[in-house]
Amino acid sequence: MKRRDRENDSGEQRQKLMGLGNRSMGKSYYPELQRRLHELESFRDLLNRINDTIFIVDAHNGLILDMAGAAELMTGCPSHQLMGQAFSEILPHHVRKHVTNLLSSERATLTMETEFNCPMCEGRVPTPVEITIQFPEGDEGDRAVVVARDISERKQAEEEIKRYSEELEIRVKQRTRELDQANEAKSEFMSFISHELRTPMTSVLGFIRIMRKKLVKSIYPSVQTDSPKVRRNMDQVLQNVDVIIAEGDRLLQLVNDLLDLAKHEASKMEYHMRISDLNRMLDRAMAAAAGFFDDSEADFVQEIPPGLPPVTADDDRLIQVILNLLSNAEKFCKEGTITLRASVEGAYAVICVEDTGIGIPPALHKAVFDKFTQVGENHQKIKQGTGLGLPICQHIVAAHGGKIWVESTPGAGSKFFFTLPILGGRTEI
Ligand code: ADP
Repeated sequence: MKRRDRENDSGEQRQKLMGLGNRSMGKSYYPELQRRLHELESFRDLLNRINDTIFIVDAHNGLILDMAGAAELMTGCPSHQLMGQAFSEILPHHVRKHVTNLLSSERATLTMETEFNCPMCEGRVPTPVEITIQFPEGDEGDRAVVVARDISERKQAEEEIKRYSEELEIRVKQRTRELDQANEAKSEFMSFISHELRTPMTSVLGFIRIMRKKLVKSIYPSVQTDSPKVRRNMDQVLQNVDVIIAEGDRLLQLVNDLLDLAKHEASKMEYHMRISDLNRMLDRAMAAAAGFFDDSEADFVQEIPPGLPPVTADDDRLIQVILNLLSNAEKFCKEGTITLRASVEGAYAVICVEDTGIGIPPALHKAVFDKFTQVGENHQKIKQGTGLGLPICQHIVAAHGGKIWVESTPGAGSKFFFTLPILGGRTEI
């Protein structure tokens, strides 16, 4: 095309751009032209003052055709140097090819995070940006409009959040380690103290029992007195000795439970796991529990089907769990019925100790498995335990791969369940 033709061509284009159509550019149009030019300049001026940058890029060769906005600020490069540059030059090396492909072949609208740099400036800190590449309708994909937004502040905030969360993670880890150490030290201390208390307590209790026996069997019968005061004193002494024995037993139980719990918490409890016959283990538990029911008004019922599947277990520890549940049931159900039940549900054997006693309020169904939890007023009238039995049961059941929980309605009784995984999975009985 000849130069003049080209000039005419671009003149017509400009006319179209300014909305003058194909009308010939006579002198009468000059004021209108001036006005439109002025409008365009004001518009560009406005665009140059926005914080974003708009690039017009030739989609075929990737060169920057025009730009407005904060290009200099974002790239660190004077606008006149950017004009005519390849757009990909201001991007980091690893995305250049990708963006060039996007512009020349894919031609799809896309938003991505990247960085802007000046191809001519050495050592400048790149500006993090979010760019949206669009292809205006009716342009046949010849030009891409790239809108870029400076996301330095957002990136900085994200970096700070990341740094804080990393710091927090380190602190949490450190704190957890310290807590674990403190917990271990506490467990060791508890187990040391419990151990040291158990020996003298056992001998104190042993001697007081011998003293009581001697008092009842030989000393009192040989006392020859009709003095009511002496008789009253003798009865009083015997009652006091009984209180010492009862409280001593409770103290010893507490010490034993503390020692047990300390071992569980420090994962130092030894388990002798072997393949266990569940029916035989339950028989042993019932035989050991017979003593609880000798003086009890409650009826004791067993609902244990024959041929329960085998489990892997330390029988003695599981018997300890069942005895604890049965002794609690007896404590809190003086007249109703206590039932020991076993069944199989899926891959688990389910053991249940049910009583028709005073029950537990729903709000405490979880808490009774916490250390030293003892339920409210009604319960306090009943002889107190240590509040450690159920937490110990929970440790033992967990060590067997099972779960323990309670279902209970105050006034209507409680059902304590625990599960044990069946050896080899699901078994029908
Ligand atoms: P404790 O030695 O006090 O019985 P446990 O940990 O075995 O300690 O039980 C905690 C508390 O849970 C008991 O003090 C009692 O308040 C409540 N509890 C346990 N079993 C029953 C039950 N069968 N019926 C009602 N309350 C119960």
